Amino acid sequence: MTKITPQPGIMEIALYVGGTAHVEGVSDVVKLSSNENPFGPSPAASEAARRATYELHRYPATDHAGLRAAIGEIHDIDPDQVICGVGSDEVLQFIAQSYAGPGDEVIYTEHGFSMYPILAHACGATPVKVAEKDRVVDVDAILAACNDKTRIVFIANPANPTGTMIDLDECARLANGLPEGALLVLDGAYAEFEQGYDGGASLVASRCNVIMTRTFSKIHGLGGLRIGWGYAPRDIIDVLNRVRQPFNLSTVQLAAAEAAVRDTGYTEKCRAENERLRGWLAEALARHGVKTDVSHTNFILARFADAAEADACDAYLKSQGLIVRKVGGYGLPNCLRITVGDEPACRRVAHAVGQFREGAE
Ligand code: PMP
Repeated sequence: MTKITPQPGIMEIALYVGGTAHVEGVSDVVKLSSNENPFGPSPAASEAARRATYELHRYPATDHAGLRAAIGEIHDIDPDQVICGVGSDEVLQFIAQSYAGPGDEVIYTEHGFSMYPILAHACGATPVKVAEKDRVVDVDAILAACNDKTRIVFIANPANPTGTMIDLDECARLANGLPEGALLVLDGAYAEFEQGYDGGASLVASRCNVIMTRTFSKIHGLGGLRIGWGYAPRDIIDVLNRVRQPFNLSTVQLAAAEAAVRDTGYTEKCRAENERLRGWLAEALARHGVKTDVSHTNFILARFADAAEADACDAYLKSQGLIVRKVGGYGLPNCLRITVGDEPACRRVAHAVGQFREGAE
């Protein structure tokens, strides 16, 4: 019998290996590998999710009007230019599916988020990886890589797993320099962690070729519920809504996200606490001789002498019940990505890295 072959590009996609929260033989485990909010969601969001379970027999709203109105109000944008998805991953998928296909090129950067090449392959397009400059997105290199096949440029700003970012003027220069027919996607999964940054919303408002995506999985602490959104020009939102399944978000997702986005006091509390603990942890790591870049996110990229040292530190942290993320798959084999946890978690990481470094000397 002939084997039935999938669409071109599909077998180029490596299966995702998920993070675990379990270490054999260790009881007090802290997961610091997925950039989750250690404080959890706003109590108002949890309560809204619980209340929404009284309506489980009803189909959810298909237009997401309540959630889009809340997003519009809080972010001061037009709710008719917002689309919601199952995590921002789904919104990114709508974009790739709608705007790229066989023969097209999709640009992402050297240490860019792993979903970008996956989405390009999934729609039959060719992912094109562009070099960064010292772990920072390089606008000139991206512009140099563009050609008439370029349909989408994905950048996360701030970026995962480096934690670095470029300023809005650089994003604007990138958008202005793209070839006709190419879109810039500014992935703002970590935007809220940078005080005063709008995630690129102002660029969307003034251009026809920029889309911003955002998530409820990070600062809003709702990773388990899977909710994200995008903000784009009206004609693009119209296109993306055509590939969106009508009931893609559940009643519970919609209720929790609406309450979460409205609880701006809680969001600000999480941002400030993350900033305080991130600074503390970076200083503690520096005292132990571990270098980090300035992070604009809720994680820190710790740099070691080489891959062997990073792997050994990862193993030691694991033995102490601390699960962090190896990022060799992102071209950073000498680094570990460590989510900023709550204060006890940060203290445990600092202590364990100190012990590891002393053992190495
Ligand atoms: N973009 C970036 C840069 C991310 O790090 C993540 C999550 N790791 C996502 C998008 C997707 O987030 P979600 O689908 O949970 O909204």
